[in-house]
Amino acid sequence: MIRRSLPVLLLLAACASENEGSMPAEAAAPKEAAPASLTLTALDCGTIEALDLGIFDVGGAYDGQTDTLADSCWLIEHEDGTLLWDLGLPAGLVEGGPMTDGPFRVSLTRTLADQLAERGVTPDFVAISHSHFDHVGQPEAAEGAVWLAQRDEREAMEEAAAADETGSLATLLAFETESFDGERDVFGDGRVKIIEMRGHTPGHSVLWVDLAETGPVLLAGDLYHLDRARELRTVPTFNSSEAETRASMAAFEALAQETGARVIIQHEDADVAPLYGTTLR
Ligand SMILES: [Zn+2]
Repeated sequence: MIRRSLPVLLLLAACASENEGSMPAEAAAPKEAAPASLTLTALDCGTIEALDLGIFDVGGAYDGQTDTLADSCWLIEHEDGTLLWDLGLPAGLVEGGPMTDGPFRVSLTRTLADQLAERGVTPDFVAISHSHFDHVGQPEAAEGAVWLAQRDEREAMEEAAAADETGSLATLLAFETESFDGERDVFGDGRVKIIEMRGHTPGHSVLWVDLAETGPVLLAGDLYHLDRARELRTVPTFNSSEAETRASMAAFEALAQETGARVIIQHEDADVAPLYGTTLR
């Protein structure tokens, strides 16, 4: 018997699937041979100059240093709908120019709405890793989407909204919302999951995206801000709980190791900026 290589078998399976109508039902390719289409696209949601990197570690690992951080947003396109992950810096920075606020100098060259319009995408769902100003800045870009909200984070936002001069929190809080606790399987097939990993904020979450070609990807939110933060396991001074952060880092690393997931540190400029506009499949 001639042994066929796997690609040949896959090709044959694909042909069988196309000709399904004229073939007996038992000859059709099994369903799992055709996974749902799923892509992940990196979008530019601004730049943050950290003027005092020291605040990114309770142990002082970065004292006296400065750095440039990317601010990335992510578009997930699944055959059953689209999800926008994180909302970046406020759109007003495009017209207004760079702004210094405390230890950060922030800037934005393109709005999220423009980048979505360019792709002809209107998100069905929106979710945030957490509610810090650099992750909720452009809720208007997701207008009409359903917000998949980690309940603990949403509650913290309700308390913080009155003091939020940008109005971003109030805008997002007014969205049609589906709240959940812990984990949310966005499209019901296990391929896109919001997973709570608290400690940076009370309901901080990461995103799992299981791509066909790339393999599983973990978007780390602000569990880590820099590649070296992952190596050093540094904990920012402004986190809501150091103990919860450390427990989340352990859970995250266990998941990454067990699944071989590619980890993306959303603020790591060197990793993320070259990916802007790129679609992973
Ligand atoms: Zn943050």
